[in-house]
Amino acid sequence: MSMHERLITPSETPEDLAVTTTLRPQRLGDYIGQPQLKENLETSIAAARRREEALDHVLLYGPPGLGKTTLAHIIANEMDAEIVTSSGPALERAGDLVGLLTNLKPGAVFFIDEIHRLPRVVEEYLYSAMEDYSVDFMIDKGAFAKSIKLPVARFTLVGATTRAGKLTAPLRERFGLFYHLDFYPVPELVKIINRSAGILNVPIEPEGAEEIGRRSRGTPRIANRLLRRVRDYADVKADGRITREIADQALCSLGVDRIGLDELDRKLLRTIIDFYQGGPVGVEALAATLNEESDTLVDMVEPFLLKIGFLSRTPSGRKATPLAYQHFGLIPGQQTMGNGVGCLFDA
Ligand code: ADP
Repeated sequence: MSMHERLITPSETPEDLAVTTTLRPQRLGDYIGQPQLKENLETSIAAARRREEALDHVLLYGPPGLGKTTLAHIIANEMDAEIVTSSGPALERAGDLVGLLTNLKPGAVFFIDEIHRLPRVVEEYLYSAMEDYSVDFMIDKGAFAKSIKLPVARFTLVGATTRAGKLTAPLRERFGLFYHLDFYPVPELVKIINRSAGILNVPIEPEGAEEIGRRSRGTPRIANRLLRRVRDYADVKADGRITREIADQALCSLGVDRIGLDELDRKLLRTIIDFYQGGPVGVEALAATLNEESDTLVDMVEPFLLKIGFLSRTPSGRKATPLAYQHFGLIPGQQTMGNGVGCLFDA
């Protein structure tokens, strides 16, 4: 199964995109969870508004699907500002970035997703824009080359990244506000599911929402996606109502186990357990064995497994913890067999 087909991939699929605008909270008051972050952000926004200034530059970091893009839009809404969005990989040339920067209106929010993937030469243009609200742009080449200073309106850069550690120091230093997004506890996911079910007009019982919430890998994007899959199942196999039983059956048939692990999660753990005797194993070796990109493992698979204590990171590599063994009904140190792709729903 490739990442694109992976049901619980935290990254956005084209289908997600279609419903994103309907389900995305527009105001800070509708944003569920992350109470500390919300409170701090609320204060900063209120202060900036009172001073009639643009908000300080904001860096949002945390695993995919936790609400970074949503927050960028909320910041713009709360500041009554326009938002211009782009992403690190999309800004290939300095000219692209300079064009966007010099066209920003005063107070605008400029959102750059995956900001750690900005090419270095492009990134350097951001420094003076963020600090002095101007860019020095080279025009022409060779003997005719000259640098011109272009003004940039006072704007707020909102950068999102899955890995704050990948940001260069000069870029990181230019942000005034840092917010870390962590996985959501089940009760908050349940609230998100109930809110989305309301918007999508899906009848759902509290136990049904709870079941989906427990199996959403702490991630709102996955919660919304599983809700839609379970709704399909309920429509076709039952009377459309999402009960605990329907949610359980639907999620089992989709290969999502009792605690929300999918095939790739289980494969990763079973590979460490079965092929590497529980580890430690380097992420590159693991990626090669699993035929996946190591970035995919590091950004999308590992964070949740680390969070729930199934995986530990040591200087010599990744290790499966006793909890992970337990999940598969295994005992550390005992010889294991099997390919690790089975869906152990009773675990
Ligand atoms: P990221 O940019 O971190 O990958 P997004 O902001 O695109 O994540 O969020 C994914 C989806 O999850 C959004 O479409 C939104 O509907 C939902 N979502 C994220 N955070 C929240 C939240 N705190 N409350 C309600 N829904 C949320």
